[in-house]
Amino acid sequence: MAETKSAGEKLKEKLFVNDKNGWEGSSEAEKKVILKFNDGYIDFLNTSKTERECVKTAKELAEKNGFKPLEKFKKLKAGDKVYTINRGKNIMLAVIGTESLEKGLNVVGAHIDSPRLDLKPNPLYEDTGFAYFKTHYYGGIKKYQWVTIPLAIHGVVALKNGTTVEVKIGDESDDLTFVITDLLPHMARKQMERKLADGIEGEDLNVLLGSIPYNDEKVSDKVKLNVLKILNEKYGIVEKDFLSAELEIVPAFNAKSLGFDRSMVAGYGQDDKVCAYTSLMAILETELPKKTAICILVDKEEIGSVGNTGMEARTFETFVGELLYLTGEDKTPNIIGRTFSHSKMLSADVDGAFDPIYASASERRNASYFGMGVGLNKYTGARGKSGANDANAEYVAELRKLFDDNEVRFQISELGKVDEGGGGTIAYILANKGFDVIDCGTPVLSMHSPYEVTSKFDVYMSYKAYKVFME
Ligand code: MN
Ligand code: MN
Repeated sequence: MAETKSAGEKLKEKLFVNDKNGWEGSSEAEKKVILKFNDGYIDFLNTSKTERECVKTAKELAEKNGFKPLEKFKKLKAGDKVYTINRGKNIMLAVIGTESLEKGLNVVGAHIDSPRLDLKPNPLYEDTGFAYFKTHYYGGIKKYQWVTIPLAIHGVVALKNGTTVEVKIGDESDDLTFVITDLLPHMARKQMERKLADGIEGEDLNVLLGSIPYNDEKVSDKVKLNVLKILNEKYGIVEKDFLSAELEIVPAFNAKSLGFDRSMVAGYGQDDKVCAYTSLMAILETELPKKTAICILVDKEEIGSVGNTGMEARTFETFVGELLYLTGEDKTPNIIGRTFSHSKMLSADVDGAFDPIYASASERRNASYFGMGVGLNKYTGARGKSGANDANAEYVAELRKLFDDNEVRFQISELGKVDEGGGGTIAYILANKGFDVIDCGTPVLSMHSPYEVTSKFDVYMSYKAYKVFME
């Protein structure tokens, strides 16, 4: 017997938002595609914990997919695939479109730096039979999350002779690891009375490295000496070489599928490697777009996008300037300004997902949820939208149509309650250059922690969103 809908039911169906969980609407075949895509993402997380490693992986994948370095081109034409790398920490890729660049670019930009602990320039010391590295945290962390978890050391030591030594040690796949200790509860009465923010202090984030003294009665700092001896044998470095090193302490654990149903990804650095991977995959599969498609993977977002590898640097302008020159369009004054003012961008950065355990920090009607697709933030900022890029309504409407027409599931949200939440991304930087920009990325649980969580459905929808945008 066919059920007939009441007038109210029909009207509600027509007028209300009727979004349901994306997994429910997916066929078994679609679920398979989503899970398979995320296997690649998990591999990426495990090979690319730092910005330098991300650039390296991106370069390898780009070359496999027919991208060539900018300096290899004397001229650029539609369909050409080109990339440029800035100081090993920032890569930009472009697929030249059939239309002139001046008519506008479609840019997706993500960041590849993540919160972590950096070694101080004079890191190594010995105290009471232990050797340690001193650190200075990078980006917004909750310090208590970094003690008593396995840690790895990733990075480079630049030597005076011009060569660079790569370091990558302590990961789950290695037979050794590192840790920052914490006080046992039996002796922690005073520590436990402190506020959560002060429970572990910045100067106490010292990484435990060794405990065997060098066997010589005549020397002091025997444990430190023994550690340096090992480092010298393994990497050829001496203590002074730490002055010109960038060594990052990152969580040692591997990214994995999360849950009995394997519906989620748990892993370090998903802010913002989830958007980096998905936008990279999208541009690698882009062939002969109408508008030139660009993917930016940038460094230093977590500390304000500053410096010559961050989004505020002129590097992006220089890259687009080169593209305009090589396509032969660089003939009229201020061509780059006009190009930018016709261009569009998805600022591909993660969003804080609704967490029922911490529900009171979110406003339920304007939060992003797992399994509901890629998240749009019309604006970010804090306290009266301060510092926000606020996307223009017309641009949001255009994207709604693009995503609906191409079956990209999306949701739109704010980061936390008014006057409680807030944040920033690279969105405003390109908006300031004249782009239409909106934040568009994957919702994350436990953002900025050593083990962040995403939904595989949303990861896949982020990729799909970037792909239809660039095509
Ligand atoms: Mn981010
Ligand atoms: Mn962040």
